[in-house]
Amino acid sequence: MPTSRPDSDTLRRWDIEHLWHPFTAQADWASGMPLIIERGEGVELIDSEGNRYLDGVSSLWCNVHGHRHPTIDAAIRDQLDAIAHSTLLGLTHPTAIELARHLVERAPEGLTRVFYSDNGATAVEVALKMAFQYWRQKTNPEPERSKFVALGGAYHGDTLGDVSLGGVDRFHTMFQPLLFPVLRAPIPFCYRCPLGLKRPECEIACLDEVDRLLGAHPGKVAAVVIEPIVQGAAGIVVHPEGYLRGLREITQRHGTFLIADEVAVGFGRTGTMFACEQEEVTPDFLCLAKGITGGYLPLAATLTTEEVFSAFDATAAEGKTFQHGHTYGGNPLGAAAALATLRVFDEERTLEQLGPKIEFLTERLQEFAALRHVGDIRQRGLMAGIELVLDQESKAEYPWHRQVGPRVCRRARELGLLIRPLGDVLVVMPPLSITTEQLNRMMDIMFRCVQAETEASDA
Ligand code: PMP
Repeated sequence: MPTSRPDSDTLRRWDIEHLWHPFTAQADWASGMPLIIERGEGVELIDSEGNRYLDGVSSLWCNVHGHRHPTIDAAIRDQLDAIAHSTLLGLTHPTAIELARHLVERAPEGLTRVFYSDNGATAVEVALKMAFQYWRQKTNPEPERSKFVALGGAYHGDTLGDVSLGGVDRFHTMFQPLLFPVLRAPIPFCYRCPLGLKRPECEIACLDEVDRLLGAHPGKVAAVVIEPIVQGAAGIVVHPEGYLRGLREITQRHGTFLIADEVAVGFGRTGTMFACEQEEVTPDFLCLAKGITGGYLPLAATLTTEEVFSAFDATAAEGKTFQHGHTYGGNPLGAAAALATLRVFDEERTLEQLGPKIEFLTERLQEFAALRHVGDIRQRGLMAGIELVLDQESKAEYPWHRQVGPRVCRRARELGLLIRPLGDVLVVMPPLSITTEQLNRMMDIMFRCVQAETEASDA
């Protein structure tokens, strides 16, 4: 660490003067007390004053094995001693090759081709463009297949292609004039069912809507895009069991692709390495980022099938090349971190250790149901959302300006837990390496804060 680093107050001032933070109301930020995280250790973050906090949302849903994991740290250092960056445009390098091999071995069967980029948004953007181009140049082309189906509440990143798919009004409506139209299927959100139905009597009627949508646009749909099992930004919306399998069956029947965006749910977050495994689904495209490097470095991968690849497997003269690439796609440091992350999954038997933690989280979450303003509790694996409502009976939401979710998180920070809400949905998404004891501490703090803040909101 440089000895000449400015003190915390100076850093805060410079931050407010120069930094523009993502998804941040800057006036609120400037009037608050920006927290400067200087270090990490396991599942804890340490600020510039030496205070420790549990990293309750895995530093934006990406940390897997904890911060400063010795195996990942060492792998990055070793790679640094070889080279920090080279390119996959016209060259290749050992770590990217080896990682591709390991990803294919672990991914749902049939996904044998790996295209690298550098973040979640690009991983999905790549899948969209590949799918689009595939239909134009496969044997017996179907160029009419140019539309995409996305779900209500969808979030796939912030580039314009992904924003076109997006279904979160607060993030996406502003940019409408810039976007391509998508066909919108209802979000499978049982607590707030858009069809006004109830599980299990509904028999997942929202799937029939997708079927109808595809039927109404025969031969026109390039792909259906989904965040499998759990829709993150929509509010940790856990899909009903069987939805993904049903969607796979419907897309196959209509002869179109399924793009699975596992940027948030991949790498163990839902209890299995990939969420698609839970319903034994192989999508046509699997988009990976965030946890791929253990949450260390920006790297992403879009996996697809030989069938898709074969439509691009041609000489330059044939003009079928995928004309897309990012400077840092497959960056060696990122790839080294990713390889080490996979190694840690094996060495620490991370997935096998998850069962008791998931169960423990389920138990602790049940206690929240007793609180008057908890409307719904949703969990899959070590991902959970606690939805706060103004009124349980009517499910009425709190007025936005009351900022109840952010207030709970602010209290939690004072008690040593860092969490970030999605509106009034509190997100629980710790690194998979969290111990039961730490999870217990985290849930204690959350319970106290939800109770205190919702009671204060009644006063
Ligand atoms: N897809 C999903 C499901 C996500 O949750 C996110 C980010 N939270 C993204 C894509 C975008 O990833 P990135 O922020 O790395 O671009």
